Amino acid sequence: MATVFEMIINGEIPSTRLYEDESCVVILDINPIAKGHALVISRECYPTFTDVPMETLSHMMEVARMVDKKQREVLGAEGTNVMINNSPASGQEVPHLHIHVVPRYTGDGKTPAFPKGKYDDGEISKYGDLLKL
Ligand code: AMP
Repeated sequence: MATVFEMIINGEIPSTRLYEDESCVVILDINPIAKGHALVISRECYPTFTDVPMETLSHMMEVARMVDKKQREVLGAEGTNVMINNSPASGQEVPHLHIHVVPRYTGDGKTPAFPKGKYDDGEISKYGDLLKL
């Protein structure tokens, strides 16, 4: 079944399009975290960050940076959250790779409330060993 983003890319459902090229399309998120919240969507449907070819991902990051620049220039954004929800466990709702670019302002109170934890004694070095690349 086609994802909502495939339907948007194919023009089957409406969107507010900011940019497009051969490998991605940029639209406004219909339920923005902040007004101007944009989505850089791969034209081809790769379900996740893990599946996309590096060349496409790196191009999408370049486009995300163009969006960040525009949000700063035009909306006066003082910062942005640039994020990818990667697989359903992380909160990804649409299984079609997209990068969120959310304009942010000092004191806007929108910082995602990820509860932070602590390591037990000696545990951080175990995780360090496990995750060394
Ligand atoms: P994620 O949870 O990372 O998969 O994000 C999916 C995003 O797509 C959400 O922020 C939705 O608000 C957004 N979204 C879903 N349907 C549409 C649509 N028709 N037009 C624009 N944005 C959409």
